[in-house]
Amino acid sequence: MVRKVTDEMSDFIGRFPESTFENNTCIFVPNMANTCVIDTKEGLVIFDLPIRQSAQKTFDKIRSITNKAVKYIIYSHGHFDHAFGYGPFIEEIKRKGWDMPEVIAHENCVRRFKKYEILGKYHDWINKQQFASVSGRRRNSIVSARETLDPTIILKGNESSYSFKLGDVNFEIYHDIGETDDSIWLWVPEKKIICTGDLMVSSFPNIGNPFKVQRYPKDWAIAMEKMREKNAEYLVPGHGRLIEGKEKVKDVLSITAEAMHFVHDEVVKRLNEGKWFEQIYYEMLEIYPEKFKNHKILRGIYGCYRFAIHATYRLYHGWYDSGNPTDLFPSRTDDIAREILNLNSDSVYLEHANKLYSEGKLQLALHILDIIIKGSDEKNAKVLADALKLKLKILKEKIKVESSYIVTNILENGAHQIKTKLKELPKIEERE
Ligand SMILES: [Zn+2]
Repeated sequence: MVRKVTDEMSDFIGRFPESTFENNTCIFVPNMANTCVIDTKEGLVIFDLPIRQSAQKTFDKIRSITNKAVKYIIYSHGHFDHAFGYGPFIEEIKRKGWDMPEVIAHENCVRRFKKYEILGKYHDWINKQQFASVSGRRRNSIVSARETLDPTIILKGNESSYSFKLGDVNFEIYHDIGETDDSIWLWVPEKKIICTGDLMVSSFPNIGNPFKVQRYPKDWAIAMEKMREKNAEYLVPGHGRLIEGKEKVKDVLSITAEAMHFVHDEVVKRLNEGKWFEQIYYEMLEIYPEKFKNHKILRGIYGCYRFAIHATYRLYHGWYDSGNPTDLFPSRTDDIAREILNLNSDSVYLEHANKLYSEGKLQLALHILDIIIKGSDEKNAKVLADALKLKLKILKEKIKVESSYIVTNILENGAHQIKTKLKELPKIEERE
């Protein structure tokens, strides 16, 4: 089941043509993430490489516009869609006998590459889930993160910045943390352009991603405010279309900063009031302001507000998040389900799940169905099959109304697992 990509999502993953701006001196090439090339009279500066699979295509597009040598490559951060498609660029440099380019990144990017060396298989596995609908589940790997083009100029520390001049154009690079701890962004005053990497994307910020490590809402807001001071004319986001016009650039930076401050400060306020996660989460859903809900740049296409609540809580809190000692070292969920099933026949639970479903209480219905799905033994194959079918139906309904690509992929993976399990069930019935 591969879901049709929405228009918003196709913008997010760069399914639109390349373009140039500032008298053809800036080249904007979308692929899964965006690559921006600044063409100076002494050579090219590339901000973010494409994902490895799009490297040749991106290289060809750039070479159809300019034939100058690549002098600098800047990694906004070390994720696989921003720092791995170097192959054709380096091959060309070797072929033509040019000097190798400087490669600029933050020291935490170097640490990230080391981390990828020990976690390669884990990242393949996790990315297959997060990107299930573009990669397909059966493909081996989205991209190997184990071969890297290592940085030659490394920004160090929290407040670091670096600047250089090429062909009369000044390049200012700043480090901030937000989506990752290795983020850097670029300001080119002569071109009035900011390249943000994933600090700005055409979606609610990817903060609190359920698969990924900690991210930083407050620092994210600060980064947006620092960028806003530059008064840029163009903003090249990590994903999505070029943002043009001083007012528009200022507006997207301001509203994103405001949203990050909001989610951070409201969760912190509730932590200080001695509240546990569940209470904080549901209160935060209640108070989410309309101005954020309605703003185009904050639509939950990829990341979403619900995830951001988790991110802020997790930034300051440990894993014991319910305040209920039962949850400290819980029993296996299958064992709990079996005990609950012992209290009544499984068909009673199924009937109740159907009732909840008919009342539109889909999430509650899922919890009841999980009692049957986790607790049933092989003797109850018929009820189990019906429970699985209803769960599949509910997941499909949720997918239809869900905007976040990450959420829909999680739901789709769940649906896929149920289909596999359903295929195995007749064999169980035959054994009875
Ligand atoms: Zn990205």
